[in-house]
Amino acid sequence: AFEGLTERLQKAMRSLRGKGKVSESDLRETMREIRLALLEADVNFTVVRKFVKNIRERAKGADVLEGLNPAQQIVKIVNEELTKTMGETDVPLNKSEKIPTIIMMAGLQGAGKTTTAGKLALKLKKEENARPLMIAADIYRPAAIDQLEQVGKQIEVPVFQMGTDIEPLDIVKAGLAQAKENHNDYVLIDTAGRLQIDEKLMDELKDIKAYAKPDEILLVVDAMTGQNAVETAEGFNDALDITGVVLTKLDGDTRGGAALSIRDVTNKPIKFVGQGEKMTALDVFHPDRMASRILGMGDILSLIEKTQQDYDEKQAQKLTEKMRENTFDFDDFLDQLQQIQKMGPLEDIIKMIPGMANNPALKNVNMDPKDLEHIKAIIYSMTNEERTNPDVLNPSRRRRISRGSGRPVQEVNRMIKQFNSMKKMMNKMSNGNMSGMENMLGQ
Ligand code: GDP
Ligand code: MG
Repeated sequence: AFEGLTERLQKAMRSLRGKGKVSESDLRETMREIRLALLEADVNFTVVRKFVKNIRERAKGADVLEGLNPAQQIVKIVNEELTKTMGETDVPLNKSEKIPTIIMMAGLQGAGKTTTAGKLALKLKKEENARPLMIAADIYRPAAIDQLEQVGKQIEVPVFQMGTDIEPLDIVKAGLAQAKENHNDYVLIDTAGRLQIDEKLMDELKDIKAYAKPDEILLVVDAMTGQNAVETAEGFNDALDITGVVLTKLDGDTRGGAALSIRDVTNKPIKFVGQGEKMTALDVFHPDRMASRILGMGDILSLIEKTQQDYDEKQAQKLTEKMRENTFDFDDFLDQLQQIQKMGPLEDIIKMIPGMANNPALKNVNMDPKDLEHIKAIIYSMTNEERTNPDVLNPSRRRRISRGSGRPVQEVNRMIKQFNSMKKMMNKMSNGNMSGMENMLGQ
């Protein structure tokens, strides 16, 4: 996502780089480029105007023109303003004081309500040991109930349904009664959508809201739809006074307009983002990280969190210790590779690393899962001693490993070299701040 926007913003600011002093006209030109970049990314016009005005004022106020390294200062200001536009801080899920917390999903057809209900239920289950119940209140598409039941089965969360012949409001009433009886701590109500906002849909949702008094009304919008997503959000917010937004399909080819406009236009926080079809692909929305991602500065914190999430706590701790003590070996490396493979396509992960997102050298690189298999084959051909004590890997051992794994000896050498530099990097990271990492990545 955001490739076009990132590229254009970087270009807009690149022209300032290396300039000891930025003239009024340099600044004007940069602001013009930023403005065009945002409009092209389908950011709401009013939002763009406000954004550009703020940056210009701050740039002037901070005496960027006189100060040292004006380019860096502008990048910093743009980053901060992007963050502000998207909401400044994270806003957590609303919770009820007594169970159940009721979460109502709303949104157009295909936005991702059903999928997101499942993702959120799974997240609550994993992070809070919660026992959610999902209510199937979309009776207009026969497949909708099936779909929610499939999701429920997959994540092992019960689904309350009464078929398609009962009014949604009555289903919700019965579902809530069941949740009370079973002491479920969360209830997620999956509602119907339409291709367009219409009165009948809104009335139905208003009735459900009036009865269920949800703690959270999450509007689910498809980030790929740009300005339409923003208009949809306005419409739903006017009718339902939503409490939060979930932006879905951020893994796709979105231009950024929805992410950058919705908060400002509706004044409602984006709480989560959907970044894939898998049930684990729901992340808390962090405005500051999203701003860095849009600027192509990567999303290293999310990456670390993602790794940690998919990693069991003990294993993570063990790894941190090994990194610190510099005893990371090939067995750990193998573990890591397996974890990485579980995390999803390597391309997606690489995009989150600072400096990698728009690294032209990596633009067309296809991360072949076969490469990972080759690395594994090489490690499997090592003896236990070699795995735990990589220093013993002399040329004759390397030749033997090459024969055993069926990989050329150059590849074995390259892999060992990569392993060693990774080890060094990890050691630096664990013993200091991120600057070690940034150095390695040539930032
Ligand atoms: P609903 O009509 O609002 O309930 O939407 P669904 O939950 O049925 O989702 C519609 C389609 O969007 C499904 O094919 C989902 O797999 C897909 N989808 C939902 N969220 C995401 C996401 O974050 N990323 C991607 N790539 N697909 C998603
Ligand atoms: Mg649905």
